[in-house]
Amino acid sequence: MIDTKTRLLGLIGYPLGHSLSPLLHNQAIEEINLNYVYLAFEVKPADLKKAVNAIRAFGIRGVNVTIPHKERVIPLLDEVEPLARKIGAVNTIVNDQGKLKGYNTDLSGLKRMLEEDASFVLKGKKAVIIGAEDAARAAGFTLCQAEIAEIYLLNRTIKKAEQLAGEWTEYYPEIRIKGGGLSPENYYRELKNSNLLIDTTPVGMSPNTDEFPVVEENALHSGLLVVDLVYNPRETALLKAARRAGAKTLGGIGMLIYQGLESFKLWTGKEAVVENWKKIL
Ligand code: NAP
Repeated sequence: MIDTKTRLLGLIGYPLGHSLSPLLHNQAIEEINLNYVYLAFEVKPADLKKAVNAIRAFGIRGVNVTIPHKERVIPLLDEVEPLARKIGAVNTIVNDQGKLKGYNTDLSGLKRMLEEDASFVLKGKKAVIIGAEDAARAAGFTLCQAEIAEIYLLNRTIKKAEQLAGEWTEYYPEIRIKGGGLSPENYYRELKNSNLLIDTTPVGMSPNTDEFPVVEENALHSGLLVVDLVYNPRETALLKAARRAGAKTLGGIGMLIYQGLESFKLWTGKEAVVENWKKIL
């Protein structure tokens, strides 16, 4: 029941569309019987500063931050966890008595999905990542933090792949990292001796469910774990092809769940039940 002690949690982004976060977090609040409520706030870019001040003024316990505010919110915070600062994006803010601290739970979300849902050990492995925007950035830093041995980053716009690969190399010079174009040749050559493929592009997302990021099905093999961060549909065309090739596969739903669980824990100190969130989704 809502009373004077009820604390507010929320989501800020623009536009918000049909985010599942309110449903998931409010379900966990009810299940653990906590005195919180989670709301979605559409905040236009021009109003971001006012919204961050409102978190302080209203004593909001914490918020998730989504597109387009993940980077621009950083200078407005009092403190940013070192890894979130490194990747340059915050997706969770915790308000401790007026002091706002930023985190990025996408990284721990992806790591937990790989470890818990596929028992995949990143240390010493070789990965190919497709795409060079926010999701790729989070994926690359997750892999580097976990001491992967080698990353080949493929992107349609070559310059962006080279830039992001260069940025990772500055932070992790001991890891072999290269960026290149998303050509069938590069894809085939690099995937042949890789253990992990992470597609971070929106290709294959509903309604374009027949699309592949690269048309080179022969490159997929049984020694691979293939991860597609798209979660709608659950099994993209890429994952179907990977399954046919005997590879292990993971869709993006696990990352979505685990990053949310981590945010929830940062705010409330409690663990929501993974299975219940999986059921809802
Ligand atoms: P985005 O803007 O959706 O993705 C842009 C990237 O995809 C760019 O590198 C772009 O290449 C590439 N790309 C787009 N269309 C392409 C095509 N037809 N062929 C080849 N490459 C293409 O940015 P994002 O924020 O990184 O998100 C990517 C995806 O990850 C989205 O589908 C999002 O839903 C998903 N995601 C999932 C989770 C989760 O929890 N599961 C978390 C975050 C994101 P260029 O640079 O050449 O334009």
